[in-house]
Amino acid sequence: MTLFYGSDEGLIKLKEILKLPFHDHDITVNVQRIGRHDLRPLLKDIKNQGESNFVVDCDVATFLHLLNQAQELSMVSHYYHYLFISMDLQMINLTSFQDSGVNITTFKLINPERNKKFNDLIENFKITTGEALVYDALLLYSKVLSNLSSFERDRPDKSDLDCNKFNNSSFPFGSLISGKMRKMVFEGLTGRVIIDKNGLRKDFYLSILELTREGLIKIGYWTPNTGVKIMRNLTQYYRNVIGSLRNKTLIVTTILEDPYVMLKQPNDGLEGNDKFEGYCVDLINEIAKVLKFNFTIRLVEDNTYGVKDKLTEKWSGIIGELINLKADLAVSGLTISHQREEVIDFTKPFMNLGISILYKKPVANAPDFFSFLTPLSFEVWIYMLATYIVVSFMLFVLARFSPYEWAKPTSCQRDPGVVVNEFTIMNSFWFTIGSLMQQGCETMPRANSTRILSGTWWFFALIMISSYTANLAAFLTVERMITPIENADDLSKQIEIRYGSVYGGSTMAFFRESKITTYERMWASMESAQPTVFVNSSKQGINLVKRASPKYAYLMESTSLEYTVQRECDLQQVGGLLDSKGYGIATPRNSPYRDPVSNAILKLQEEGVLHKLKDYWWKEKVEKKCPKEEKKDVANELTMKNVGGIFLLLVVGLIISLITVTFEFVWKTIQKAEQDRGSLCREFINQLKFAFNCKASKQKPPSNIKSTSNHCLNKLSSVEGLISNHTPSIKELNVYEKFSN
Ligand code: ASP
Repeated sequence: MTLFYGSDEGLIKLKEILKLPFHDHDITVNVQRIGRHDLRPLLKDIKNQGESNFVVDCDVATFLHLLNQAQELSMVSHYYHYLFISMDLQMINLTSFQDSGVNITTFKLINPERNKKFNDLIENFKITTGEALVYDALLLYSKVLSNLSSFERDRPDKSDLDCNKFNNSSFPFGSLISGKMRKMVFEGLTGRVIIDKNGLRKDFYLSILELTREGLIKIGYWTPNTGVKIMRNLTQYYRNVIGSLRNKTLIVTTILEDPYVMLKQPNDGLEGNDKFEGYCVDLINEIAKVLKFNFTIRLVEDNTYGVKDKLTEKWSGIIGELINLKADLAVSGLTISHQREEVIDFTKPFMNLGISILYKKPVANAPDFFSFLTPLSFEVWIYMLATYIVVSFMLFVLARFSPYEWAKPTSCQRDPGVVVNEFTIMNSFWFTIGSLMQQGCETMPRANSTRILSGTWWFFALIMISSYTANLAAFLTVERMITPIENADDLSKQIEIRYGSVYGGSTMAFFRESKITTYERMWASMESAQPTVFVNSSKQGINLVKRASPKYAYLMESTSLEYTVQRECDLQQVGGLLDSKGYGIATPRNSPYRDPVSNAILKLQEEGVLHKLKDYWWKEKVEKKCPKEEKKDVANELTMKNVGGIFLLLVVGLIISLITVTFEFVWKTIQKAEQDRGSLCREFINQLKFAFNCKASKQKPPSNIKSTSNHCLNKLSSVEGLISNHTPSIKELNVYEKFSN
């Protein structure tokens, strides 16, 4: 704020104000001496600094001179506040400022309301505060004198009362009189007169006056005990503001952006507001109709919305113009943000939105040579391969352990003397692949354990093959349209696609101020990109997105994006909204118009006018509509999330078959041990040894061959039989070796 003083005495008074803790509130105080000279250069400087609060201590004539000069520089308006701390402002004529809306506040000590007997005096004579104080002083003196006893009254030496006569002697009754004055209490022209022990007035009453359209009006009072008490009637104040808006012409600053504010085409011969059209132009027209004001649209000089310079802390664009009071309202797609709200005021939002990504629609990909692999994800293919190996091997192992898997070979011979196991390692692998490919195989499981495993495997194969076939059909019929990015995170993790926003707007500020890692990374990339990724207007951004190379994604607000994709059929929105905010009409800080405009917006919203306007500019005013895209089912490769269950089922089948084979193995071994009347333990060891001996044959003697005491004999007889009845293969000879050992 600026303190104006007119005399040295005024500066002494202002000293008390300067002692206040302005620094704590970040307030800079500027002190200037004023007089009746040309104040315009000084005022111009102050205006350029964006100063609008003034405390003035000078005589009323100088204050009037200051107001006249300020008016020439448009510094007498709603945005300027003058606190006139010298009194007697009611003595001058302020009618020429009454309609300007300027905020002038002052004080009045003369208070006839408190003592009606002075009404006539005040009405007949225009009395200044100084005169009223002299009046009350004389009244006090006369009251004291009349209270003196006759003895005291007769004593004063008249010569001592001559003020012009200077001598060292003092008025002998001075202390007596001043003592009595301190005890005297009465209602004077300046309110109740009470003098404290230091001889100063105490407990006095100051009326607080404010300039309105009806003149200076009391809005409150101050007393040492109560402090400031404001009694302003807010409804009255609001009515006054609305009244002052009637037929007033407000300056509306804006920026060209489709569909908010656009130049009419063709533009020839159009002047003033007629040159413009768009959602915001219609909106301000509707608000002006409600509040009955006129307006002039002006385009912002630097063509930006407004962002704070980190070094100079100065605001650019529309925000800068409002701070410098170059406009009364800003009506555009101006985003309400916390940083902006600190320096200007916003009305209630008239539209809600968020930041999103504009990118080109993907074009159909040329069919892939290996597209048959696409129905299943790489991960699933690897799991399938691993499962195939594990199941085949387990089948081989189960078959070896399960005694029921050993059977007589199919030959014409009645009793070949050996049993064979068809599930060799190769056959096991062949069996599983055969069933997976739905071809089958000659080898078939006989034991319950191997059958359980095979059954589970067949079920697994059935599900996998059906899923693959179904998905393959979808993949081959649906054109694969792959968007390389699906959200902001994808964008931040790649370097092929450049991305940026409009320069000097809230979108840029959002990324600059964000503390979220993804957005921080995006800001670092945007800031360092060469050439710059920032554009001067949304049009430029949209054109960059449409260009084939280099690829560009444009970060813009969802409402503008929605408007764009309805007209540019090759563009689309990628991902959701990165934040949530609104557009509002902005006014300079503490503007009295903010509340009436906010109310008008709410009214229009409730009446459905805002909705109609949006529909008109977004949906109805479309020259060429984009063809409606059929919602195609997008085929997605199957991942473990889709088919994990069947893998789990297979594991369960495997476990059950393992338990079954254990039972089979134990059961048969017990049976054999009983049959042979041999040691169970030994039998176990023998059977296990055979099963674990990988080099062992696929054949073994049938389990009904007697063992233990007759063991070797039986073995030999069966082997002999084998040798005599059958031309032995190398493997059969191995069996012979095994048993003869
Ligand atoms: N509407 C925005 C603003 O107020 C412009 C943008 O940054 O996208 O700054």
